[in-house]
Amino acid sequence: MSITKSLNEIRTSIPDQVTLVAVSKTKPNEDLLEAYNAGQRVFGENKVLEMTQKWETLPKDIAWHMIGHLQRNKVKYMAEFVSLVHGVDSFRLLKEINKQGAKCNRTIDCLLQMHIAEENTKFGLGEKELYEIVDSEEFKSMENIKIEGLMGMATFTDDTDQIRKEFKSLKKTFDNLKQQLTHIDTLSMGMSGDYKIAIEEGSTMVRVGSSIFGARNYS
Ligand SMILES: *Cc1c(COP(=O)(O)O)cnc(C)c1O
Repeated sequence: MSITKSLNEIRTSIPDQVTLVAVSKTKPNEDLLEAYNAGQRVFGENKVLEMTQKWETLPKDIAWHMIGHLQRNKVKYMAEFVSLVHGVDSFRLLKEINKQGAKCNRTIDCLLQMHIAEENTKFGLGEKELYEIVDSEEFKSMENIKIEGLMGMATFTDDTDQIRKEFKSLKKTFDNLKQQLTHIDTLSMGMSGDYKIAIEEGSTMVRVGSSIFGARNYS
């Protein structure tokens, strides 16, 4: 199926208030342009260098989301253009984003990534670390980052009850955090295999790659 057709099918299957991030990692510019020409403006990448190269060559009205695990020494390369950083999983990383945001006179929008999966391979914060960050004086004084919400990845499994349970727990953490950070409005959860469950459980932003662009080829 073509990218345009897949994209349109996904669009019709998600509610209007849910943002679709087209995950274009490993895909060539032609593929991104096809999605762009079909109206897509939000793209997700997981490598800073690759995202920067695409940003340099593709239309400037694309919003680039960094969805992958991020190393602190790479933040400087994307600070001037990144639109949303999904994978903030440590206070040290958040501090670096704040520092680089200050250097280019921007406030960089971020999501804190929570660890919700059973596997211990997936990155993310626990509740305790989350509140250590948001309760701290240093966090309150940071002027070049803005926390827009939370992100999480469910366990890679066929057990939909398990996936649902993990999304529910993330939604609960989000609702609790919102009591304190009342402006937050973004809950990034759901990928090709589980975005429908994620939306049922309160996702406001889904990150869909292979269902739009086809399987990735890591060679
Ligand atoms: C690759 C990736 C996705 C998209 O995965 P698909 O299964 O291809 O939809 C979503 N989120 C993150 C963090 C990813 O790294």
